[in-house]
Amino acid sequence: VLNGIGLSKSFGSTRALDAVDIAVGAGESVAVMGPSGSGKSTLLHCLANIERPDSGQVLLDGERIDQLREPDRSELRRTRCGFVFQFGQLLPELPAVENVALPLMLGGMTRREAERNARQWFAPLGLEGKEDSRPGQLSGGQAQRVAIARALVAGAQVVFADEPTGALDQTTGQEVIRMLVEVTRTQNAALVVVTHDQSVARWCDRTVQVRDGRIVRGAGPSVSGSVGAGTAGVTR
Ligand code: ATP
Ligand code: MG
Repeated sequence: VLNGIGLSKSFGSTRALDAVDIAVGAGESVAVMGPSGSGKSTLLHCLANIERPDSGQVLLDGERIDQLREPDRSELRRTRCGFVFQFGQLLPELPAVENVALPLMLGGMTRREAERNARQWFAPLGLEGKEDSRPGQLSGGQAQRVAIARALVAGAQVVFADEPTGALDQTTGQEVIRMLVEVTRTQNAALVVVTHDQSVARWCDRTVQVRDGRIVRGAGPSVSGSVGAGTAGVTR
């Protein structure tokens, strides 16, 4: 479903991404691991259309999404891509259910219908009774589960998560990643999770390792063994 092909990105003299190929299938979850500064977030941002790669392509369902302009870019990010970040992504003044309903309302759905849709996500994510709580009244794990609902409510084909458990304790983090993997799989969405935590990565179908802007292990089925120029000894 999601293909990054030959993605490169430099910041000044820093080559943050160096001709990376990555493929993630529908319903598949991939953990992106690697040392700090290796290019994980840059890879995620390029795939998610948050940052524009200097070269390379990103395809979603075979369609190029890396060169989109407004309003197509916003539309893509509201509907076909979902995002879960470390924290701070919920609007603090809105009740949980309105946070989840927001992408639908921005798409023109009435408040009533959007909230009805949004409410359906609460029970499966263990959030019954939290519909009217504001983000500040939720625990960190609950807030992340609300963010998961919001990422998926508009029918995302791919969900991008950057350290989604980074601000949580071990037990809560496991719960959040388990649900994230489970609901994206149920929705047949692709999931890309950047994490430092091996116990988080374990929940995913596979792991790719990033070093110095290159994937050194586990690029995915479509590009086996050919990731980046000169990455001799690539294993999967
Ligand atoms: P961490 O695990 O610490 O989050 P990361 O693997 O996500 O690290 P990136 O944020 O992708 O790393 O950064 C890769 C490289 O690109 C680093 O050397 C970083 O300093 C540089 N970089 C990233 N974003 C920018 C930017 N906006 N401006 C300048 N340099 C940047
Ligand atoms: Mg990062």
